[in-house]
Amino acid sequence: MQWRYPLCDLTLDEAEIAAVADTLRSGWLTMGPQTEALEAEFAALLGIKHAIAVANGTAALQLAYHLLDIREKQEAIMPSLTFVATANALVVLGGRPRFVDIASILEPTIDPVAIEAAITASTRAIVIMHYGGYACRMEEIIAIARKYNLAVIEDCAHAPGAELQGRKLGTFGTIGCFSFFSNKNLTTGEGGMLVTENDELAARARLLRSHGMTRSSWARHQQAGASYDVLECGYNFRLDEMRATLGRIQLHRLISNNARRRYLSARYRSLLATVSNVVLPFQKAPERPACHLMPILVPSATRARVVAALAQRGIQTSIHYRPVHSFTAYRDEREMNDSLLRTNEFAARELTLPLYPDLPEEAIDEIAAVIGETLANQP
Ligand SMILES: *Cc1c(COP(=O)(O)O)cnc(C)c1O
Repeated sequence: MQWRYPLCDLTLDEAEIAAVADTLRSGWLTMGPQTEALEAEFAALLGIKHAIAVANGTAALQLAYHLLDIREKQEAIMPSLTFVATANALVVLGGRPRFVDIASILEPTIDPVAIEAAITASTRAIVIMHYGGYACRMEEIIAIARKYNLAVIEDCAHAPGAELQGRKLGTFGTIGCFSFFSNKNLTTGEGGMLVTENDELAARARLLRSHGMTRSSWARHQQAGASYDVLECGYNFRLDEMRATLGRIQLHRLISNNARRRYLSARYRSLLATVSNVVLPFQKAPERPACHLMPILVPSATRARVVAALAQRGIQTSIHYRPVHSFTAYRDEREMNDSLLRTNEFAARELTLPLYPDLPEEAIDEIAAVIGETLANQP
């Protein structure tokens, strides 16, 4: 389907194409100087000591769970309202996600009260997800983590460059995990980043990213006769030079792109504020969200009609997310259903509207008008 206004779109031009072509001509394609430069630049942007580039956001999460040694019968508390990778990356290592509810349907990020209530002797970590690029309640979450001596993993897939109280998201917890998937605010096609202030975690993450080897191919390339040891069995979660090159140019666009996303979100909000039956989450948002998504709530009984009316005009929408506990693979967690009422209500009513830096303002006016008409004409 050729959408007039897709849900998301790339901001990418000749600068990326030329830079990637240069890297292709350089003769070094696997993890090397471009990846190192991207890591240094990403760490500088966040104001954090270590940034470790990986193959994708799911790899960053899996590495985080591995680094924290969350094993068989051990649990990590997390929202069910997230992309399934947040939970999958733990399950494949043998750990168990313990799903808790969102704070409210107006603030669909993990509820600190529910976190504290879910802590057991098996809990090893608190995993949070900055939904749509809007910050979770970090002050309360960090206080709980300190009180119970738990690690905090921030799933920042939606939140590169977002801030809370002047500090970048991803720098509050023990480990921050970013995704550079095609539809994210900063893209390399496939790619990701793990960030931490902790030297030991960073050193081990670098090892595990590349088979547990003490020396990379790039380091060996620069040194005659260099050999290596394998300290611990790891993965191949490396990023390559073409993607790192793309990421470096995308990084330059991130701050202005995020600002544009905030501007467009504000336009949506002002136009939709007066539409009856539309509820806008995150009206009292922290000062600098990344505005990855534009979520609205409509009555669940009319959502399909709104989706159809927009699709008829070539406007794509989506739902973020079907809760993880509702998937077949998570049927053992269905018992949690009764404790996830706000998550279930949010998921039944949520609709994600198109949002990307080059979305024309007229599109927003049209989308708001279509939603208004459709809801006004409901039987
Ligand atoms: C995109 C996403 C991921 C996974 O990232 P990939 O790079 O696609 O592996 C994880 N968590 C959330 C919330 C995401 O949106």
